[in-house]
Amino acid sequence: MAPIAVTPPNHSGNVTDLTQDGIKTALLKTAPSQANSASMTDSLTATPPNEPTTAAANSQKPTPTSTAAELPTLDASKVTCTYTQTPRAVPVVGSPEMASQKVCTDHMIQAQWTVSTGWQAPSLQPYGPLSLAPTASCLHYATECFEGMKLYRGHDLKLRLFRPQLNCRRMLMSTNRIALPAFDPDQLLALIVKLCATDGKKWLPKDRPGHFLYIRPTMIASDPALGVERPKEALLFVLLCCFAPMGDMSGGIKLLASQDDMCRAWPGGFGYAKVGANYGPSLVAQGEARKKGYHQILWLFGDDCTITEAGASNFFVVWRTQEGRLQLVTADLAEKIVLDGVTRRSILELARRRLTGTSEGVAAAAAQLETIEVVERKFTVFEIEKAASEGRLVEAFAAGTAWFVAPISQIHFRGKDIEVPMAKGASGAYAEFFKKSLQGIMWGSHGMESHEWGHVVEEE
Ligand SMILES: *Cc1c(COP(=O)(O)O)cnc(C)c1O
Repeated sequence: MAPIAVTPPNHSGNVTDLTQDGIKTALLKTAPSQANSASMTDSLTATPPNEPTTAAANSQKPTPTSTAAELPTLDASKVTCTYTQTPRAVPVVGSPEMASQKVCTDHMIQAQWTVSTGWQAPSLQPYGPLSLAPTASCLHYATECFEGMKLYRGHDLKLRLFRPQLNCRRMLMSTNRIALPAFDPDQLLALIVKLCATDGKKWLPKDRPGHFLYIRPTMIASDPALGVERPKEALLFVLLCCFAPMGDMSGGIKLLASQDDMCRAWPGGFGYAKVGANYGPSLVAQGEARKKGYHQILWLFGDDCTITEAGASNFFVVWRTQEGRLQLVTADLAEKIVLDGVTRRSILELARRRLTGTSEGVAAAAAQLETIEVVERKFTVFEIEKAASEGRLVEAFAAGTAWFVAPISQIHFRGKDIEVPMAKGASGAYAEFFKKSLQGIMWGSHGMESHEWGHVVEEE
């Protein structure tokens, strides 16, 4: 294949940051309003809007050009609605359909983009199959990314999303990484809310408090040109899928540490983005692990067996240091081999606010928990092994939207089992604290009905 001609971008003066430069150029063309948000391209994480950007990041800001605003951007206010003529039945609780993860609600959101027309008006339309050319880019080159969120039916009977802005910002980061068009994350959020408001009442009825629908925003390159190149057409869609209520994890989950012949993500790769290319290749190992009786793979990286994640969840451990300090530890994001989970972020924020010595509240005391140091750093499975053998391992858990907060009972590593304590029988005490706190916000209970992380959806 012919080499790609690269014009050095004038804002950096070198060609070492091909991906970053490409992302900035694309942002200018497809969502100029986002091009000034240095956090979207530089840290690639879901930085809350009120967090100050660094001076270094600001100095690299691309300047919007006059051509930038010419094409239409994604605009939720232009949504057209076509309602289904053949409404379907909502699966009965406990039925096989409910557990099949194949039943979606009556409607879906779609929005098309092309390089020459920009974003077309989005539509809310009956749920149904897509029509794609067999040559479509996403089918060959993994130009696909997605998000995973939930719509919760609260115990106060309201519908809620949990910190959905963070998912929408992360989706933009993922699309940027794989050459899909950019958009204003607030417009995506408005479209998600529109779909939830339309289908929530019927598909998450008020007699099912504590239930949820799984929300899957997706973007694919639909470009029918088979060449290996930046796609010129894309499709954004959002669907709501029925999921059975979360299973009983009271025995704790068992993890199988990844072997030396595999890794999930690597520095310079794309493990930090929710792109489909991260998941397909992990399914062989996951299938083998399940066959052997483990729930998830604990993904290690490098010769030193650095811990990254557990399946598609972030991994947390609580241990006591040799000096006797109690710590909550999770992998840092610096090397970009770990996904910046909304649940991870929320647990870290909760712990820093409510469980550290300097915290605002009396949460630690109220829950009869010892205050804890919160640590984001590179750490290895050997450190866990050592802590376990010296009686310093307190608990471990996986955290993500799909599995929520899942206590871990055992880690199998190189032929040996590391037993992980679960002080409360079915869970460790800290996992239980995070689970209860987050559940209160998601389902509007325990006095958390109006927490800032709970985003109430008004039903239509
Ligand atoms: C989605 C995902 C997570 C969890 O992220 P949440 O935002 O908490 O749902 C963690 N790791 C990987 C690899 C993921 O894909």
